[in-house]
Amino acid sequence: MNRYYRFARMTFNKIFKTTAVHTEAIHNDKVWEKVKEFVKNQDAEWFVLTPVDFEFAKTMFGFGGTAKQYEKTILQRYKWLQEHGQKIQLHVHLRYFVSMVSKKEQEEKIEGAINWMKKNGFDFDKIVFGWWSYNKISEEIVSKHGLVMPKYFDYYNIHDYDLIKG
Ligand SMILES: [Zn+2]
Repeated sequence: MNRYYRFARMTFNKIFKTTAVHTEAIHNDKVWEKVKEFVKNQDAEWFVLTPVDFEFAKTMFGFGGTAKQYEKTILQRYKWLQEHGQKIQLHVHLRYFVSMVSKKEQEEKIEGAINWMKKNGFDFDKIVFGWWSYNKISEEIVSKHGLVMPKYFDYYNIHDYDLIKG
């Protein structure tokens, strides 16, 4: 794909598609400031991590606090987003190589995340997996819970940490 074509397609997606923000680092105060600025100018669907991905947030984005502190921080920030007219959806990271995740582990993680969202009153109907990595087992669990799995090209996709670049 040549550079011009890629740029044209990205611009097209940005203008005509809803932005989906995968939140990975919203616990970070620098990212959070940028998120609040972003919301002043545009709406998005926010695909958010839950406490089932605490280890991921710690390893990838250096969250230094406890699991409880992580939960409290992300919950407050998702509630703020919701109060500011943003749609909250679900984001779960299995593994990059999803074939290495057992059915039991998938159920625990996906259902753990769904239950956390419900317990905290989020009205969501979509889930996206990290790295777009899932298999038949994940699809079965998702459809059992009546959730939809959007495809990559349904949205203009960004990560929350992209907002602190440049
Ligand atoms: Zn992700």
